Amino acid sequence: MGKDPGATKINYLRISVTDRCNLRCRYCTYWRDWRKLPAKEILRYEELLRLAAIAGRMGISKVRITGGEPLVRRGLAEFLGKLRHVPGIAKICLTTNGVLLPELAPALYKTGLRHLNVSLDTLRRERYRQITGQDNLAEVLAGLEKSAALGFHPLKINCVVLRGINDDEVLDLAMLARDHPYQVRFIELMPSVSRQWWQRHFVPMPEVLQRLMVLGPLLPSTQEATAGPARNFRLPGFRGELGCISPMSGHHCHTCNRLRLTADGKLRPCLLAPSKLDLKEPLRLGLSDDLLGYFFKEAMKKKTGKTEFPLFPSHHPGWSMASIGG
Ligand code: SAM
Repeated sequence: MGKDPGATKINYLRISVTDRCNLRCRYCTYWRDWRKLPAKEILRYEELLRLAAIAGRMGISKVRITGGEPLVRRGLAEFLGKLRHVPGIAKICLTTNGVLLPELAPALYKTGLRHLNVSLDTLRRERYRQITGQDNLAEVLAGLEKSAALGFHPLKINCVVLRGINDDEVLDLAMLARDHPYQVRFIELMPSVSRQWWQRHFVPMPEVLQRLMVLGPLLPSTQEATAGPARNFRLPGFRGELGCISPMSGHHCHTCNRLRLTADGKLRPCLLAPSKLDLKEPLRLGLSDDLLGYFFKEAMKKKTGKTEFPLFPSHHPGWSMASIGG
């Protein structure tokens, strides 16, 4: 069922600042055809700031910085400090794999950034290495603690649940929210992998919820206006919260409020649909802010609220999450 036109305000822009990543997660950057973009194809910070300002005028109030791994791009903290002063952008969030947080968290905090999402699928060192290709679990855990101590809040942990890989750790990961003020969110695997891999490792969210129920009553908690598709729960005795994101078993297209800007300047109305509008060329050709604003308006119009991708994909869609920014 489609939504009423205009029912969901499009107020959230995810900006991927790089396609580079210091991890090679099996389900994300692993896709064989993934190639790094030439540096000149990647939008410069001043270009991103200009587009953010135009987006702010078009009604975008929340921006999430993502990648690739945003912390591998030099000068990120300085960019965030400037982004904070862009009119209209009231809320800035960052999604990171956390590997560089021990080093960079203080500089990020100084920019005024407070909303941090850290991706972490396992608490076991060898498993972390198998999933990500790197031996960095200790750095991520240290980065989380340092970020919490500095005062980042909310501090969300994103875990993609993978059958036969980490699904036996759902309760251990959930316990992070008992002992720390973290929001631990479980995410369904999306089809940016081969069909066989997706079928073998996909875990539907109802199954995850069933496992979580042994911890006690899952009490639904309230959401902010620009909140994403997570359903959040409180549990008695927990300092933090749990969350579930089910893009596959429960599409949230009818309430989707987001646009995505890729590192090479493509504006995508939907993560999984092929449609995209190139902003880089018009930007570099010198188009006015008003004309560039038209592209945002077009992308917003394309968000019909209808689901545009198949629930069970029959082939690899030909993109990696790292190239779009998740
Ligand atoms: N490097 C940063 C990080 O690790 O958070 C930001 C980019 S990463 C593409 C953003 C998020 O997408 C991560 O939480 C990652 O786990 C998630 N992701 C990547 N591929 C996915 C897939 N196939 N299904 C579900 N989530 C995925």
